[in-house]
Amino acid sequence: MTKFVFITGGVLSSLGKGIAAASIGNLMEARGLTVTFLKLDPYVNVDPGTMSPYQHGEVYVTFDGAETDLDLGHYERYTSVRLGKNSNFTTGRIYHSVITKERRGDYLGATVQVIPHITDEIRQSILLGARGTDGKGVDVCIVEIGGTVGDIESLPFLEAIRQFPFNVGRGNVAYCHVTLVPFVKVAGEIKTKPTQHSVNKLREIGIQPDVLLCRAEVAIPDSHKAKLALFCNVEQEGVITARDVGNIYEVPLALHAEGLDDILVRRLGLECGEPDLTNWRRVVEAIDHPRDEVTIALAGKYVELHEAYKSLGEALTHGGIPGRTRVNLKWVDAGEIAARGGAEAGLAGVDGILVPGGFGERGIDGKIEAVRYAREHGVPFFGICLGMQCAVIETARNLAGLGKANSSEFVPDTLHPVIHFLPGQESVGNKGGTMRLGAYDCDLVPGSLAEKTYGTAHISERHRHRYEFNNDYRERLEKAGLKISGASPDGSLVEIVERPDHPWFLAVQFHPEFQSSPVTPHPVFAGFVAAALAHKKKAAA
Ligand code: GLN
Repeated sequence: MTKFVFITGGVLSSLGKGIAAASIGNLMEARGLTVTFLKLDPYVNVDPGTMSPYQHGEVYVTFDGAETDLDLGHYERYTSVRLGKNSNFTTGRIYHSVITKERRGDYLGATVQVIPHITDEIRQSILLGARGTDGKGVDVCIVEIGGTVGDIESLPFLEAIRQFPFNVGRGNVAYCHVTLVPFVKVAGEIKTKPTQHSVNKLREIGIQPDVLLCRAEVAIPDSHKAKLALFCNVEQEGVITARDVGNIYEVPLALHAEGLDDILVRRLGLECGEPDLTNWRRVVEAIDHPRDEVTIALAGKYVELHEAYKSLGEALTHGGIPGRTRVNLKWVDAGEIAARGGAEAGLAGVDGILVPGGFGERGIDGKIEAVRYAREHGVPFFGICLGMQCAVIETARNLAGLGKANSSEFVPDTLHPVIHFLPGQESVGNKGGTMRLGAYDCDLVPGSLAEKTYGTAHISERHRHRYEFNNDYRERLEKAGLKISGASPDGSLVEIVERPDHPWFLAVQFHPEFQSSPVTPHPVFAGFVAAALAHKKKAAA
């Protein structure tokens, strides 16, 4: 029997519900249990794929090509779980499915209105997601409800999870409410009232939480835990301090120290031993006590909004773990690079340059300038997706004599479309879920930097793009020093380019950041950070 842990949020957003959910999964896995996750998002879009990163933050891509909420990234980084299409449901997706069924006549004569079908649909979706991507089922399914209790949008989801015990039994369900217990400086006191109000809101809907995960700057004293327990109707041991920590990977350890996993195991009647947190402690220790540090410039468009590059930032941190190197990020607005008329000022002194993925023309010239700077100064360069396309354009323009080279994404009738529309997709007018998405195999050229870095000649990486390297320019670009070191197994799609005349220059059409975790740092990120450190040491010598 699968057990369900539902995570809701109260008081305000950004309390780290996703990391709390991921941490619970981490602790359950450390106890030898199999887990999976679901994220239920109250917004009406079918998926976040068509939203601006400003609005939504990163779009996380699963192996099976779903465009999902960035919390799925946390879940995959904190556990060994692989999530998929049925791990993220939005209001839009639920309603879309119900309305499609209604039009098809599935509910003919059954009810006057389709409203009850909404909660049924949500329950079915949870049960489907709980089977896991291999369909085998798990011991524990952790379900996070987006938004904050009290929002009107999340009501159908809360109603569905309220009803849930009627289907699976109350003993198989635990409700965790993530809330805020602020310290009010002028009064010199910590305050329980916002949590009381938020739990009241939850109880109005009919949900009685079993656990309160109280975000707080300081440890909540027993006296206040007792007060929260009494007024929120929660057992005192269920009142957990989720204190602010310096490094997000410490959260599972902090919650374990507060006894969270013990309570859940008891509440759900799970049979398992104590958690083995050895590996995880090692990771946290490595991040907290680096021996070296490097500064990596991130030349992108959404630099003000770090949430847009969540997985990327995490993957860079992971990349520093094997060599005990702290990675400091220098966010450089690509627009500024071009505006200043050169990369020299903005990029001087950095140890590595990364041009990440992105869409749209803004900042393109600055990104191409960043590539040129890295190439000419021998600074380790890592291009991801759009970053790889910029690397190709840079070689075309500055070394292959194709001055007007561009991507047809930016100039549809460009004279030299070195990056062009993915062949075969020319007719796609629909924007939702129509990119080249998800995991594809790629073969690496023996002896290349790519092959050496991966330590294997066959890889699989996740994609999210519409445009592609144009094979008509293959020869001209190769003559200009760009080596194609990775391609689809049939050889038709260029996946990786590198520059053998450079100490470390690698650009990939896919998104390796989606497959990195602190316990298994991605080899390309580890290689890039190591190259940046070597560059820094050489420059200092
Ligand atoms: N805009 C580019 C494309 O669609 C790159 C996409 C990306 O960086 N994710 O191909």
